[in-house]
Amino acid sequence: MSTEAKCSKPACDKFTAINELAKRRGFFWPSFEIYGGSGGFVTYGPLGTRLKQNVEAKLRELFVKKIGIYEMESSVIAPGKVFEASGHVDHFKEPMVECQNCHTRFRADHLLEEKGISSAEAEKMTLDEVKVEIERHGVVCPDCGGKFGEPQRYLTMFQTTIGPYSGSVGYGRPEAAQNIFVEFNRLFTAARERLPFGCIQIGHALRNEISPRQGLIRLREFTIADLEFFFDPEEPCCNLLGEVDNEVLPILLCETRLKECEDTTDLTVREALDQKIIRSEWQAFFMAMAKRLLVELGVPASKQRFIEKLTWEKAHYSSQSFDQEVLVNRWGWVEVSGHAYRTDYDLSCHMKASGVDMTVYKEYATPVEKEELTVKPIMAKLGPVYKGDAGKVAAMLAKVPAQEVADAMQKQGSYMAGNYQVFPEQVDISKQKTIVRGTRFIPHVVEPSFGSDRLFYVTLEYAYGVKDDRVVLSFPRSIAPIQVGVYPLMGKDGLDTKAKEVQRLLACEGFMAEYDETGSIGRRYARADEAGVQLGITIDYDTLNDGTVTIRDRDSWQQIRIAIKDLPEQLHKYFEGKLNFEQLGSIIKT
Ligand code: AMP
Repeated sequence: MSTEAKCSKPACDKFTAINELAKRRGFFWPSFEIYGGSGGFVTYGPLGTRLKQNVEAKLRELFVKKIGIYEMESSVIAPGKVFEASGHVDHFKEPMVECQNCHTRFRADHLLEEKGISSAEAEKMTLDEVKVEIERHGVVCPDCGGKFGEPQRYLTMFQTTIGPYSGSVGYGRPEAAQNIFVEFNRLFTAARERLPFGCIQIGHALRNEISPRQGLIRLREFTIADLEFFFDPEEPCCNLLGEVDNEVLPILLCETRLKECEDTTDLTVREALDQKIIRSEWQAFFMAMAKRLLVELGVPASKQRFIEKLTWEKAHYSSQSFDQEVLVNRWGWVEVSGHAYRTDYDLSCHMKASGVDMTVYKEYATPVEKEELTVKPIMAKLGPVYKGDAGKVAAMLAKVPAQEVADAMQKQGSYMAGNYQVFPEQVDISKQKTIVRGTRFIPHVVEPSFGSDRLFYVTLEYAYGVKDDRVVLSFPRSIAPIQVGVYPLMGKDGLDTKAKEVQRLLACEGFMAEYDETGSIGRRYARADEAGVQLGITIDYDTLNDGTVTIRDRDSWQQIRIAIKDLPEQLHKYFEGKLNFEQLGSIIKT
């Protein structure tokens, strides 16, 4: 479960400015506004949808394309059995208190954090301790000042029925990971039965958050990107480690956190592994990749950190967890991705609950000779006693471990195979030499899990700047929702026709290019800066004579002149990062 973002800054800040800009320009806004809204749901508008797609494209580029992770898509609703087996029905709960006056419900740990109790401490508390602390700090309802009732644990999964049967319980998935685990056998076949391999699912997740009041940071329906990486625990080496060996990870260690200190320790991936701070090579690799992803989204390394989770903060499935956090203006450090070593927990749970074998077979490099205890039924002795059932008794004996039968014979003088009592003279128990060619085991899993909406928000916040009293969204080149704006100086004299031609040319070349002729050119530039349009192309009277246009850079406001015929090739190079703005054409001195 996530580190909770907590409010530590006054309300008038970047968060407010961004939310206002987002509504005005159509990045995103609260859903269902005409009916008064419903907390924790958000609608992405035209610009936001593109920006979110670009953020997710970056994630796919780094993880799916470069590392060769598979991708899958499955359903949001799952039968109750899935989340009973995974442990979510028992564990996916948050402490909650209800105001006895206005009946508004709040996350109890969040209220305590606002009174200066650390999230680590608040998360550890029993309900009785929560009650004592609420009383001790005089915490009252932030809405009406009323007193709180007894704290309780609230299941934050959305529950439904599947079809018109009240007994057929279903849950909205709070994470996309379980789909991957329940489909493991088919995915393993698709992976040509080879480990290691990984599979990511990017899709909606549902969490019935108690009181979401943090915009995109805490939603009831959000996009999660869960990547499950399966490997043999006896072969835990990451063959890609060389690519990230020297990447520095700023880690806030458990031991530092326990001293109530916030200092991070800078460790290279190699150092973190050598010092056993990160236990799995694959986990360290994904943490380094997560850091790079955020850098590519525009968040500098100095504004990122990894926080090692304390024993009681870890999710029920995790043996070691780190949260990747980004510093944001209103909320302080906010988790953008979680990195958990899930061991064989999930596959074991589903194997046990479903009865389906989820082990994989590994052939030894050289077969080994093993002495094995075997139990062979002596049919000549079983037959006369159990008659027609003798075969059934023999089949039961074949399924149980030989040692169990041998122990029972020794201790109790017989073994109960179901309802049939079997005596030592009816079986042959002996040690036999066998050649073992391989073994079956349950793969281990490390999981990086990203929240797409939080990645989107931090991308927006780090792009947000003000220049000469004007808002400019300086997205990284590959992230800008609109790559090129095309503007006729005037909407007449054939300039508009020429500009539409240029827009078509660029759109056909695969660029996200938009035409705009409304308002003065200055206003259009300002509007484009606010939408984060990377480049602006202006068609003027010279264009009609010599076929050249002006390109304006969003961030420097510099301008260059270039021939229309050179635009496609030069812009491709520019957006691929092979050319700087100044290299696009001849600079216009202003
Ligand atoms: P978790 O399984 O709690 O570690 O969540 C995985 C990721 O999903 C987190 O790192 C967040 O980026 C994101 N996330 C979790 N809960 C929410 C939420 N309520 N709204 C938006 N994003 C969330």
